[in-house]
Amino acid sequence: MGVGMKEENCIFCKIAGGEIPSKTLYEDEEFRVILDLGPAAKGHALILPKSHYADLYELPEDTAAHAMILAKRMAARMTDRLHCDGFNLMQNNGETAGQTVFHFHMHLIPRYQDDGQKIGWKPGEPSAEELEEIRNKIIG
Ligand code: AMP
Ligand code: ZN
Repeated sequence: MGVGMKEENCIFCKIAGGEIPSKTLYEDEEFRVILDLGPAAKGHALILPKSHYADLYELPEDTAAHAMILAKRMAARMTDRLHCDGFNLMQNNGETAGQTVFHFHMHLIPRYQDDGQKIGWKPGEPSAEELEEIRNKIIG
């Protein structure tokens, strides 16, 4: 899989392509994995495809599959080396969902018992009817 389109003025295109230096953990033809400069916890890293896709909606399926395999391998390596207690995989799409850089990336976040972070949501309490309604909207 070669390297496809880049977007001008995209910082992650420049980082992934090596134009802007980064703390690189891994690199192949398709991806670069770098340390996040604003980490949620020690070792927080980002998987960046070298081609520009704004988000998951634009990401080709084969790149998505490769990104998940790489995430699994990185999680194993990082857990072994960092001795973290858990691991979050995160991926934001759209400003509403917390995306700030509009070049697809996957967050690799090692978690430690005392890291003081909280990644989560306030659970709703939908009725059976509401669940059925939303299910029909999605599959109907
Ligand atoms: P998101 O909010 O999912 O779009 O995540 C963007 C992430 O990129 C944040 O965790 C930032 O800390 C990180 N980030 C932004 N600019 C850089 C950069 N130049 N190098 C490394 N990480 C960055
Ligand atoms: Zn880009």
